[in-house]
Amino acid sequence: MKKGIDVGGSYVKVLWEDGRREKFPVREFSKDREAFLKRILQIIKEGNPEKVGVSVAGFTSTEGVIYRSPNIPALDGVKLLDLLKHEGLEAVVMNDVSCGAFGEWFFEERNSKVLLLVAVGTGLGAGLVIEGRPFLGARGSALELGHHIVEKGGKVCSCGRKGCLEAYCSSYGLERIYRELSGKELKDYEIVNLAKEGEKEALAAVEVFKEYLLVGLMNAVHILNPDLVVLAGGLIEGMKEFLHDLEERLISMVERLPAEGLRVKFSSCGEYCMARGALALALT
Ligand SMILES: [Zn+2]
Repeated sequence: MKKGIDVGGSYVKVLWEDGRREKFPVREFSKDREAFLKRILQIIKEGNPEKVGVSVAGFTSTEGVIYRSPNIPALDGVKLLDLLKHEGLEAVVMNDVSCGAFGEWFFEERNSKVLLLVAVGTGLGAGLVIEGRPFLGARGSALELGHHIVEKGGKVCSCGRKGCLEAYCSSYGLERIYRELSGKELKDYEIVNLAKEGEKEALAAVEVFKEYLLVGLMNAVHILNPDLVVLAGGLIEGMKEFLHDLEERLISMVERLPAEGLRVKFSSCGEYCMARGALALALT
């Protein structure tokens, strides 16, 4: 039996080939490298899987080395694929959003020639699947869509640069937009809830968020010419009711040729999105 594993800073989520799901809390280990690796190896090996796909939040090279994981410092520099092979496991290791994109193609969208998945939550990440194959770049770090500049000299991003898409389209981005409009310090979900109640500043903040998201997607469509853009992630999930005109607006913004046949959809795979993609990798 094969399984997909999504290694995050708070939980490790597992999806088995037969549909079984498991979720293990790991936050208590996430700063202690030895304890964290021991625990995730236990979880990965549990049940003697025949092959595993592992999704990791962070810069992951094509050789399965985690260069840097902003949310899981214990994984920085870890040669995860070598470690799994050393344990006798047949394994594939990939960045989490690339996994999410591949899972979407593998389980739902096999007719898509170029599928772009954009996940918005704490940060903004993207994954690309071209003709059924994840596109990772030369070293594994392609699709850093969150860190392309949409405003020269703009707001400071988590990466330290200014004006990145993520500086506007992320939890902290939305919180900052709202703070500047209202003078109030609120969490992303509180702002979304206020927008749902019709509060003027919250609605305005959501609109600013959308305008930047549209610019980011327009740039991506002009560069990559996808036939499908899949929107995923916690913040997108919460804001869905404000985003229904996104496809129409995006199509009106891009050139006619890439607009032809372009679809925008919301991912339906929820919190096991990345584990599902990791499973898809194990199945191929
Ligand atoms: Zn950035």
